Amino acid sequence: MTRSITILGATGSIGVSTLDVLAQMEAKDEFEVAALTGAGNIALLAEQAVRHQAKLAVTADESRYLNLKDALAGTGVAVAAGESGLIEAADMPASMVMAAIVGTAGLAPTLAAARRGADIALANKECLVSAGELFVGAVKTGGGRLLPVDSEHSAIFQSLDPERRHAVERVILTASGGPFRTWSREQMAGVSADVARAHPNWSMGLKISIGSASMFNKALEVIEAKHLFDLEPHEIEVIVHPQSIIHSMVGYRDGSIIAQLGAPDMRTAIGYALTFPDRPALNVERLDFAKLARLDFEAPDEVRFPALRLARLALTRGGVQALTMNAAEETAFHAFCDGRIGFLDMADIAESAMEAMVDWPAANTIEDVFAADSEARRRAAEFIARKAF
Ligand code: NAD
Ligand code: MG
Repeated sequence: MTRSITILGATGSIGVSTLDVLAQMEAKDEFEVAALTGAGNIALLAEQAVRHQAKLAVTADESRYLNLKDALAGTGVAVAAGESGLIEAADMPASMVMAAIVGTAGLAPTLAAARRGADIALANKECLVSAGELFVGAVKTGGGRLLPVDSEHSAIFQSLDPERRHAVERVILTASGGPFRTWSREQMAGVSADVARAHPNWSMGLKISIGSASMFNKALEVIEAKHLFDLEPHEIEVIVHPQSIIHSMVGYRDGSIIAQLGAPDMRTAIGYALTFPDRPALNVERLDFAKLARLDFEAPDEVRFPALRLARLALTRGGVQALTMNAAEETAFHAFCDGRIGFLDMADIAESAMEAMVDWPAANTIEDVFAADSEARRRAAEFIARKAF
């Protein structure tokens, strides 16, 4: 049976790995590519669209529409741009949509795909952090499946036996600890984005690499886990595991721990989401335990890495606190990359925005989500401009 796939964010780290997995699959003809989307990298997007015979290519950046049109002239690939173009891509009748846009920009098109019943391979954790119940509800109503791509959540998905859901006691998310795992706050205070983006184990996009250094990525993942697996906050633990070999674990009530292990390569998790419940043959590194020799663990330090404390606070408070944390942190991330604030300021800005919006009403509709998201960004930008956070 031929299946079709649309990749939202095809030109990014996850998008490129997804196309590589598709190219590696034994029965390559099993999948045909419906739409591919990108933003600034027009040459790569056009090249991908031709190579994978996509029906539609979309740039999120409207000002590059003509560049993309020129690049694809005579190829038969249709071209669109902007937010409406992203929705057009999501609405193409593909049975699966890989959600790999970075940030809240991914929410609207992924939601559109969920509503029409596509299976969602979800890399964009921001969909769940910003719109948790609404997003999960849209997938359920649409009738498609929600397949985690984030490596930790894929590991939990692979280790969590749905028949034994009642016997699950906890999930344990592993965190590499990032490049600053052993650094003091004084050392972290002065780092630039170039230093913070150098992840010890994984090769990823800029936002998630910086988020790994600050552990904001893990904070988002705690909230992502809650929504994906319907967990209470106390059932989600985080353990620092510098080698990133155990991708996460599920603890059962008989004391057993079931874990998924592998080399730190996103293609395994992507392949699992694309072919679930099968496993594709993949040319990824095999673990050599004798060479590994040891696996290390340590408790996360919420003083040096306040993001984890903020995630717990967001879960306890509920309402739009998680959304606010994410929106304010995304705003602060851009300011950090531009050199306008320091590395440690990102968490302070997120916390200040959460405090400022503590009485904001819960979001019951997607319009409420976007309104609260804009307000959180506005407040964060104001804190940054006034240097008050
Ligand atoms: P990336 O920055 O490498 O790629 C992002 C993609 O989104 C690109 O195709 C880019 O063109 C597109 N994009 C950027 N801004 C956009 C906008 N405003 N509108 C529409 N499209 C836009 O990011 P990535 O590392 O591939 O991460 C993508 C998502 O997957 C993120 O949510 C991230 O948290 C998640 N994720 C990534 C990894 C990883 O290993 N890279 C692992 C787990 C989860
Ligand atoms: Mg992850």
